[in-house]
Amino acid sequence: SQRVKVKQILLDEKTDYNVVVKGWIRSFRNNQFIALNDGSTNNNIQVVIDQESVTPELLKRLTTGAAISVSGQVIPSMGKGQRVEIKAIELEILGDCDPEKYPLQLKNRPSLEYLREIAHLRFRTNTFGAIFRLRHALAFAVHKFFNEKGFVYLHTPIITASDAEGAGEMFHVTSFDLKNPPLTESGEINYKEDFFGRATNLTVSGQLEGELGAMAFGDIYTFGPTFRAENSNTARHLAEFWMIEPEMAFYDLEENMNLAEAFIKYVLSYALENNREDLEFLAQRLLEEEKQKPQQERSEMGLIEKLEFVLNNEFVRITYTEAIDILKNSKPNKTKKFNYLIEEWGADLQSEHERYLVEKHFKKPVILTDYPKAIKAFYMKQNEDGKTVRAMDILFPGIGEIVGGSQREENYDKLVTRMEEMHLPVEEMSWYLDTRRFGSAPHAGFGLGFERLVLFASGMGNIRDVIPFPRTPKSAEF
Ligand code: ATP
Ligand code: MG
Ligand code: MG
Ligand code: MG
Repeated sequence: SQRVKVKQILLDEKTDYNVVVKGWIRSFRNNQFIALNDGSTNNNIQVVIDQESVTPELLKRLTTGAAISVSGQVIPSMGKGQRVEIKAIELEILGDCDPEKYPLQLKNRPSLEYLREIAHLRFRTNTFGAIFRLRHALAFAVHKFFNEKGFVYLHTPIITASDAEGAGEMFHVTSFDLKNPPLTESGEINYKEDFFGRATNLTVSGQLEGELGAMAFGDIYTFGPTFRAENSNTARHLAEFWMIEPEMAFYDLEENMNLAEAFIKYVLSYALENNREDLEFLAQRLLEEEKQKPQQERSEMGLIEKLEFVLNNEFVRITYTEAIDILKNSKPNKTKKFNYLIEEWGADLQSEHERYLVEKHFKKPVILTDYPKAIKAFYMKQNEDGKTVRAMDILFPGIGEIVGGSQREENYDKLVTRMEEMHLPVEEMSWYLDTRRFGSAPHAGFGLGFERLVLFASGMGNIRDVIPFPRTPKSAEF
């Protein structure tokens, strides 16, 4: 008989054939019924054993968490909830699991906080099974979308000398012996020499290198890990996260926004079509969580409706200046959720402003464009007004900023002047400026934080719960 995944057996609903299934016991009851899970789906398959033919010693070892191999016959199930089950013919224990010590041997559903403490085991729960299969489906859809559009997947470096965002939130990379580091004249560690004599850091964005690719291939994207040494403990920030960064030659800001909107809709609809079961599980989970909240704080839509709403509605597009007017004219709200301050033109929006625009005012995803140049990175194309740049941020309900992008400044002189104003190392970045020196072309791109997308699609509330191994100021053990 053939080894088959549980998902396939449940999907086929065929009976009267023999299979081998390998997985982990989720529960064992009445000395007869094993709920077996192999990670392919949250739905367990019921394995029925014949008590007569099993030794008492083996029965004792059928505990939650144990790994087993079962060969048996798929038969129609009399029980509720499943159409088929497996009648065991041979059962082998591959790995025991001590019920006294197993952290997931719990009567009640463990809290997310508790599961974060045992993040190395949380994949084995239904919640995290659904989240990480969803994450996989979304990642696959990312590649599928760009591949269908003819984009080249360009691998940009993790170790780099540049700070693309100019925010100074970088992790240094050191190659020297910490016990014997190179020193400056005043006796401090000389980080300028940390990478074999050069100053380097972990990348905060692959964009600058991506622009080099766009100037040759036309359309490229990167999708890789990104690092920010921000010591913030929010539910939206990680020290290590994955970013999707397409960069397109001959695109202006509007074409950039069109691509970003189409992209988000494509990957969400891929998940709805191909990962329905896990999304429905997460929707149910969210519904139960919402029931714990007071009526007025509950969200009006379930998870599936929320995703479908995004697919079926155009994102609102307004300028930063229009957004500030809306915020100024809005009545200050003293509820805890929207305790926003009325903004003045020029300030960066706080996430509560972003969420006010999306969740209260427009009730739709919003694309904000043309931000003040003082609060945006050096590479953005400057508008005629001399005050704003061709930036766009996409804001999502429950998330705030999910995408940051812009049309890039293609004019060499304007770019260099801006870099000098911002005290950036023009000389060191001559490799980047070559894009504007040799065959400069209008181009644009954006960065989408993959975990923020998974956060939205899964309905989870904390970014630590949508990345397999969260790296935050407080967690980096394994
Ligand atoms: P924020 O305002 O939320 O701090 P940002 O403006 O600093 O984000 P960008 O430099 O524009 O971020 O990066 C592009 C995208 O990467 C953001 O829109 C967001 O989706 C994601 N992102 C940025 N920082 C983080 C982080 N620390 N953890 C997870 N995702 C992030
Ligand atoms: Mg930031
Ligand atoms: Mg921002
Ligand atoms: Mg941004």
